[in-house]
Amino acid sequence: MAKQDYYDVLGVSRNADQAEIKSAYRKLAIKYHPDKNPNNKEAEEKFKEAAEAYEVLSNPEKRQRYDQFGHGGNAAGGFSGGGMNMEDIFSQFGDIFGGGGSPFDSFFGGGGQRGGRRVAKGTNLRIKVKLTLQEIAKGAEKKIRVNKQVICSTCDGTGAKDKSSFHTCRTCGGTGAVRRVTNTILGQMQTTSTCPTCNGEGVEISAKCSECHGDGLVRGEETISINIPAGVSEGMQLSMSGKGNAAPRGGVPGDLIILIEEIPHETLKRDGTNVIFDLYVNFVDAALGTSVEIPTLDGKAKIKIEPGTQGGKILRLKGKGIPEVNSYHKGDQLVYVNVWTPKALSSEEKEMLERLRSSPNFKPQPGRNEKTFFERIKEYFE
Ligand SMILES: [Zn+2]
Ligand SMILES: [Zn+2]
Repeated sequence: MAKQDYYDVLGVSRNADQAEIKSAYRKLAIKYHPDKNPNNKEAEEKFKEAAEAYEVLSNPEKRQRYDQFGHGGNAAGGFSGGGMNMEDIFSQFGDIFGGGGSPFDSFFGGGGQRGGRRVAKGTNLRIKVKLTLQEIAKGAEKKIRVNKQVICSTCDGTGAKDKSSFHTCRTCGGTGAVRRVTNTILGQMQTTSTCPTCNGEGVEISAKCSECHGDGLVRGEETISINIPAGVSEGMQLSMSGKGNAAPRGGVPGDLIILIEEIPHETLKRDGTNVIFDLYVNFVDAALGTSVEIPTLDGKAKIKIEPGTQGGKILRLKGKGIPEVNSYHKGDQLVYVNVWTPKALSSEEKEMLERLRSSPNFKPQPGRNEKTFFERIKEYFE
């Protein structure tokens, strides 16, 4: 894709002066600032594009070369062109956001100002969510009340007692960074480090808010609606960005980390995407055939036991299992048929069975081609 003209990017004329260029860039930088457009790739691109244009047009030498050679100025050893990363942009042009107005205005008024300052980040919050197997199979929306740090409403998150006790850090002048110039044999070297007075936040508080003691945060509650996709499993973690603890002084809230816990089902056992049910039928039902009601994840289901069913048979209810997360694949319900042998018999029952004992039909005669129990199980899991 061809690069857009730098003047068009900033929306200024070819003979715009430095003040116009700076003001145009400032507007774009605020509009497309990542703090204001979280997870917006397009805004990030625009933000980078504007920074790149500003880098060239704000420098008279680079601008002249650009006017002469256009984007090809690169080849002549000119400006750096594309590939600027966000860190570069903030460290190089941080000062564009600063200046003017009270710190309250710059933090909470225009919005999006960041400069070289370190933006406070709220901590992540972890919660556990217990789900039944049915909820896991269908996916669930859970409304959960979480106890978390929220912005202090008394000071609007500034941590300051009032406007006059909230001011620009005197050590770093609000940039959040301190520069040191040292002379080396290679010439002057400039190093930048986080301001120790304000810890990079760019502000100092002379009198603290009595409600939050200067933290800008207080304990509070929020009811959060969480959409849990079908197919999650024990130990899985989901994350909701920005739903964690709030951050003071206009910072970015942390994330909410949701740890999934499975409540075991009374009769169904989960095995990956399949659910397993152990069915017991007595040997009369196995011999004569019957129909039985069994539990599934969506209610009861009737299944047929064919006459002459052997113990160890596995019946499969297609699609009655659990979906795979973010996939169309769904597991099955497997029904293991166990033939129940009575443990206690009355004398009458014993008599009846004695008469059957010698019948040739009661002599076990597994077929030559009959698969072993192990082979059958293996087959079902392949
Ligand atoms: Zn400072
Ligand atoms: Zn407060």
